[in-house]
Amino acid sequence: MSEALSNLLREDRRFPPPAELAAAANVTKETYAEADADRIAFWEEQARRLHWDREWDEALDWSKAPFAKWFVGGRINAAYNCLDRHVEAGNGDKVAYHWEGEPGDTRTLTYTDLLREVSRAANALIELGVRAGDRVAIYMPMIPETVVAMLACARLGAPHTVVFGGFSASALRDRIQDCDARIVITSDGGYRRGAPSALKPQVDQALTECPDVRNVLVVKRTDQDVEWTEGRDLWWHEAVDKQSDQHTAEFFDAEQPLYVMYTSGTTGKPKGILHTTGGYLTQVAWTHWAVFDVKPDDVYWTAADIGWVTGHSYIVYGPLANGVTSVMYEGTPDTPHRGRWWELIAKYGVSILYCAPTAIRTFMKWGEDIPAEFDLSSLRVLGSVGEPINPEAYVWYRTFIGSGRTPVVDTWWQTETGGIMITPLPGVADGKPGAAMTPLPGISAEVVDDAGNAVPNGAGGYLVLTEPWPAMLRTLWGDDQRYVDTYWSRFEGRYFAGDGAKKDDDGDIWLLGRVDDVMNVSGHRLSTTEIESALVSHPNVAEAAVVGATDPTTGQAVVAFVILRGSATESGEQAAKELRNHVAAEIGPIAKPRQILVVEELPKTRSGKIMRRLLRDVAENRELGDVTTLTDSSVMELIRTNLSTPG
Ligand code: ATP
Ligand code: MG
Repeated sequence: MSEALSNLLREDRRFPPPAELAAAANVTKETYAEADADRIAFWEEQARRLHWDREWDEALDWSKAPFAKWFVGGRINAAYNCLDRHVEAGNGDKVAYHWEGEPGDTRTLTYTDLLREVSRAANALIELGVRAGDRVAIYMPMIPETVVAMLACARLGAPHTVVFGGFSASALRDRIQDCDARIVITSDGGYRRGAPSALKPQVDQALTECPDVRNVLVVKRTDQDVEWTEGRDLWWHEAVDKQSDQHTAEFFDAEQPLYVMYTSGTTGKPKGILHTTGGYLTQVAWTHWAVFDVKPDDVYWTAADIGWVTGHSYIVYGPLANGVTSVMYEGTPDTPHRGRWWELIAKYGVSILYCAPTAIRTFMKWGEDIPAEFDLSSLRVLGSVGEPINPEAYVWYRTFIGSGRTPVVDTWWQTETGGIMITPLPGVADGKPGAAMTPLPGISAEVVDDAGNAVPNGAGGYLVLTEPWPAMLRTLWGDDQRYVDTYWSRFEGRYFAGDGAKKDDDGDIWLLGRVDDVMNVSGHRLSTTEIESALVSHPNVAEAAVVGATDPTTGQAVVAFVILRGSATESGEQAAKELRNHVAAEIGPIAKPRQILVVEELPKTRSGKIMRRLLRDVAENRELGDVTTLTDSSVMELIRTNLSTPG
């Protein structure tokens, strides 16, 4: 195996789509040309996949750019599109979710079941005084009630803000205050790593500083003891179960706010991204159908948390808008054993899996013998999201999870973009390990230099989006100016994504990491992604993070943090020496890290992204910046201690 997988930075194999998949693909090459001919008409056609109570008068109003309005004058309800219309079309018995709790308990919810639950919850929220436009905070584990709560809000036109169940009380408090939510939906807790973990105490603590919150609805999941504030706290089963399961959805303006989602905080303090209804739902429904080539019989699984945008768009809104059957899993991949995901795929016959490179690298570290014990033959498309996927990880994913047969779609997008933007299509593209490749039909992207000019093929620069798109953020919650400054000021008239990218000789796009993370060593710009991929291509390395630290001679110097594979036996010093030479051989001497630090863990956000800015703080011996979105803050302690120990 290591023979075949070595030297993947020089991986130039191409993986054409399986003939059968290509022949029956939802989207073909022609779609690109069609969309190029008339982008707006293309998106109007996709919007018609949804049910509108009233069609729009104008597809795009860009007269107050960069503040966009899509499908102006149209009236729509997101929950109606996700539920009622499937039930009305006679598909109510179709399974919406196969839900699996971490302890092994399961629930199957059909579209009819879900519609009834959502109607009850909507009626309960009305009783609590929730009206269109009111914000509702949702702080939940991965249980069906999380989806129910979101759709109940959507039904009422009340924007939700879902906060990761793993976040602290202060992170929850900040978000509740920032969007001024008056109702909080939570649970006593959820199951993680084989034990119940509590949520209610964090809510109680957060609310000591959120006096405007009137009510807290609490789902009973783990049966833990909870503190109770009379008059404020209500059990979900008492408030919701007694309600009528009938509720007539009201149709709202296409620009009705649907939710506020805070970004991962990888580069700084999280931003409150506002998404609205018509354009957002159009793009997530279409991209879900197109990018994963979804067919009516597929069993689809986004293995991510609902508390980040991937969960919103591709666990909830996209799959439900398309009437698809999904799997939803509560817990961690290693509980009760390291084959849990593969067991679920075999059990439910999952045909499409979408997850993050961090998960794939973890599975690589655990070894391919584990997935080999399970029947993964139902899989036909694999997706990746959240970070650049190292070529090594791409090929491993395709080989050992996809049986060497399934296309892998590397999807680039952001909380801000709402839906997938740049990706190969499984029935069209010859997959290139490590490349996100091409903007989707209807999406316009470019790689530009400092002056904003498009770079030629073979060169790198900044990724920008050159035309508005339906699911684009409308603003930052309560801060129009920061919206303009952050995204629309660096390059006149274009959206600045904050990511570095290059175009290869075919004009395909490769993401190179955050612009903030790009290093300048003796006048050479170096990409974190490329050096990390070089490190990960070494058989001893499981994960790597690279940062630029101030250096008196070179301006910046490359500092790498690596996690070694279980099988690696050398001392830290030996390993470091070998890896420095490996990087020099793979990329060039200029990219050779000044320091390589062997660590046990890397600091990551809850969505699995490496927080390089914290590592930079460590490498430059500074106070740590915002750590509120870190999964486990003790990791930083460990790394610091490690650093101060010589050798
Ligand atoms: P913040 O904006 O608060 O720093 P964040 O950027 O991590 O947080 P998200 O919106 O969750 O918040 O992540 C979007 C970013 O993730 C992109 O800008 C990009 O850097 C990275 N990303 C996502 N998918 C891919 C991909 N397929 N390839 C490369 N990078 C990706
Ligand atoms: Mg970002």
